[in-house]
Amino acid sequence: MAQSERVQRLSPGRDPGPTDRVIYWMQASVRTRYNHALEYAVFRANTLALPLDVLFVVTPSYPGATARHYRFLIEGLHDVAQTLSRRGLTLRVLVGDPPVVVPDEARSAELLVMDRAYLRIHRDWRRAITKAVSCEVVQVESNIVVPVEFASDKEEYSAATIRRKIHRAARPFLAEVETQEPARSRTVPARRPDSPHREIAPQRLADADGPLRELGWAPPRPTPFTGGETAAREHLMSFLDERLELFAANRNDPFLDWGSNMSPYLHFGHISPVEIAREASANAGMDGVPPFPETGRTGLDSLLEEVIVRRELAINFVFYNDGYDRYSCIPDWARRTLSDHATDQRPHLYDENTLREARTADPYWNACQTQMVETGKMHGYMRMYWGKKIIEWSPSPEEAFAIAMRLNDEFELDGRDPNGYAGIAWCFGKHDRPWTERAIFGKVRYMNDRGLRRKFKIDAFAERWGTLG
Ligand SMILES: Cc1cc2nc3c(=O)[nH]c(=O)nc-3n(C[C@H](O)[C@H](O)[C@H](O)COP(=O)(O)OP(=O)(O)OC[C@H]3O[C@@H](n4cnc5c(N)ncnc54)[C@H](O)[C@@H]3O)c2cc1C
Repeated sequence: MAQSERVQRLSPGRDPGPTDRVIYWMQASVRTRYNHALEYAVFRANTLALPLDVLFVVTPSYPGATARHYRFLIEGLHDVAQTLSRRGLTLRVLVGDPPVVVPDEARSAELLVMDRAYLRIHRDWRRAITKAVSCEVVQVESNIVVPVEFASDKEEYSAATIRRKIHRAARPFLAEVETQEPARSRTVPARRPDSPHREIAPQRLADADGPLRELGWAPPRPTPFTGGETAAREHLMSFLDERLELFAANRNDPFLDWGSNMSPYLHFGHISPVEIAREASANAGMDGVPPFPETGRTGLDSLLEEVIVRRELAINFVFYNDGYDRYSCIPDWARRTLSDHATDQRPHLYDENTLREARTADPYWNACQTQMVETGKMHGYMRMYWGKKIIEWSPSPEEAFAIAMRLNDEFELDGRDPNGYAGIAWCFGKHDRPWTERAIFGKVRYMNDRGLRRKFKIDAFAERWGTLG
């Protein structure tokens, strides 16, 4: 059973009529490992002696998503269909708009279990579905260590203000997830006979190109990342064995590329932050539960800071600040100072196309933009430099904000994520403090290429991406 703080009953249900199943609408936590929502659904289905029907709804025109994202998504669905099948469960993949498809499918459900995500569209979906169905509805939060409202009841100012709260609360939420086998799931009818919705048969997921074409996408250029919980775990294990120990020392160096590569998998729900924290702690000899020191000096400290504190600060931001993707989310002090400097002379002015095609005069910026376009994942330290430079080269901070959002969401595999919205807002002063005033940036922190040259083998990084000139 899931920890009770993760579980919210959104509707008690109202006279559902004859029922024949429990539905788990698997949308945000596309995995079988450390999936509190799945385990809750199995437990309730067993208690009710009903079969469990697991659904995923593919939205053909999800805002901002491209073929690159759909391929990763389909690979993840193929993988989870297989891991579910090993537990005697069938994944049904339907095509359409979740607020239409899920209520239709839930017509004969006794209970609808849904996992949780935090962006506006995800909250709107869940609200609309809860309103439309007549069965009991339960939401289970599984893509976070400390449930968002439990961690804090307000928008936090910075990492410093949320860190203490998370450290204090996290330990019980890092427990192993209890599992039990589904009792009657094979008896679920594969498809409701009257369903008007298109379904992608599980065997068709094996070759992503077919479903991609069906959704209207030409197969994209491959990236180094394959979607799915199996691939996520392989990346995690090689990171822990090869890079965790020196993570604190090496993670910022763009040439070394020492990151965990967990972000696309976390974004698509192919891995849980609880599993990452537990495995990393075990790898560092910590017996499964991390100690949460505040020093950030060891590889483990540093990873836990990123994957729990920073990531959950971003979730806090999008959950409590409805304008997370609009310029108005930037704090007053930062907007004021950027506006005071809006007419300062820019060293260069680039339009969105020039940026998109990595044709600026800065080989380091061109390198990280190229890395993002080609691989679907820019190095973490360079993302800060990338965003800061867009401010420097755009006619106004508002335009810079909009361009950064569009490019990030289009090309990053982990784009359209709370971390992306918080990361871009950070470039404009969110979750940061005022610094010494200077041209263009005012009191907002700025970054320059001298810093890159001083700290890293940045020419070698640019050479790798063919942008050194
Ligand atoms: C301008 C800008 C844009 C960004 N866009 C995105 C985005 O679209 N999607 C995204 O997931 N992250 C984004 N980030 C945050 C961060 O850069 C990435 O999460 C990280 O680089 C992913 O690589 P990794 O998984 O190898 O990270 P690691 O360094 O190995 O960290 C492990 C995990 O910790 C979390 N994490 C790491 N850094 C941060 C951070 N600064 N804020 C919040 N969580 C963090 C991520 O979940 C990450 O997967 C952005 C940051 C900036 C400054």
